[in-house]
Amino acid sequence: MDLFEYQGKQLFAGYDIPVSPGAAAHTVDEAVAAADGIGYPVVVKAQVHVGGRGKAGGIQLAANADECRRHAQAILGMDIKGHIVGLVWVEKASDIAHEYYASFTLDRSAKTHLGMLSAQGGVEIEDVATTNPDAIARIHVDPVDGLTATQCEEWVSAAGLDEAARAGTIEILTKLYRCYEDADADLVEINPLILTTDGVVRALDAKVTLDANSVFRHPEYKDYEATQPRDAREEEAYGKGLQYVGLDGSVGVIANGAGLAMSTVDVVNEVGGKPANFLDIGGGANADVMAAALEVINHDPAVKSILINIFGGITKGEEVANGIVQALQRVRIDSPIVIRLDGTNADEGRRILQPSLSEKLRLEPTMLDAARAAVELARDAR
Ligand code: GDP
Ligand code: MN
Repeated sequence: MDLFEYQGKQLFAGYDIPVSPGAAAHTVDEAVAAADGIGYPVVVKAQVHVGGRGKAGGIQLAANADECRRHAQAILGMDIKGHIVGLVWVEKASDIAHEYYASFTLDRSAKTHLGMLSAQGGVEIEDVATTNPDAIARIHVDPVDGLTATQCEEWVSAAGLDEAARAGTIEILTKLYRCYEDADADLVEINPLILTTDGVVRALDAKVTLDANSVFRHPEYKDYEATQPRDAREEEAYGKGLQYVGLDGSVGVIANGAGLAMSTVDVVNEVGGKPANFLDIGGGANADVMAAALEVINHDPAVKSILINIFGGITKGEEVANGIVQALQRVRIDSPIVIRLDGTNADEGRRILQPSLSEKLRLEPTMLDAARAAVELARDAR
């Protein structure tokens, strides 16, 4: 779950990490009113779930109300890498002496936390990593010990930050690690972390990814879920409570269980096709959930065939079959459907499906056969 910059900064502020005072605005008038209240100069910043806003023209300094109005007008509605700006954050402008980079994230291969700190901030860290990897000081933080004071001091020395920034940076990194841990974040990134001309260290940007599975510990995160960027298909699926990820192929995929759904996506690829989506309908496979899944897939114009791959476990074959039959009575599906049904009571399930089978509704004995058939049908439909 990604946060907007301003939400990240509000989270940081809760951990006493210094950020600039500011306000969010949905309209030009709101932006100017906010800036008048803060006092000029201000920075007008596009709030989108994507980096590189500065380069795209989504970050602008305004010395007075007229400039603020002009920038807010230009930025609201702007398209930044496919994300339309609906909100700006207006904050007190900072006088920057130096820009650094700081982050904590999960190092999945090392199975522990990774801290990265660099004296070369303000640019994309991926670029620094390729052109000048030694400019990034990395540390692993043991989750049991946490970030120790000695470790943090050595880390800041290794990164070669300006002397004037060291004490402030050590303080911020200590708080940032606490935030990373307490907030159940997968990533907290400050780029740039700045040293101001009057010697203050402050977070000028905030990129935060929270673990969506931690919402039960942080009920307030529910608000963030609603503003996640989704395409039209994902929005519809989210509204219907389905686990759906949009992809760019032509074979619609429905499976029960995330593991089976992933395998199905793999098998479609293996036989030369391209999945249009990942869709896990979960444990039950009743008519409601099946109809919802079919509707979402049917609304995707790129879909040319649909592959339903169900392995009955606790969910019995006949329940699945009845669910499919009833769903097809409720929603009109344009694309041909191929079903693979196996597991508990599969024979009975197949018997239930038999009378409904046609050119447009096929049943195949194995997952591989079903994937082949679905891919062929998608190809023929072109
Ligand atoms: P990003 O491009 O999406 O990463 O957006 P940032 O919030 O990191 O801003 C990009 C760049 O704009 C920063 O690296 C700064 O150089 C500049 N910038 C942002 N805020 C200020 C500010 O208050 N004062 C000045 N002088 N520059 C700023
Ligand atoms: Mn940035």
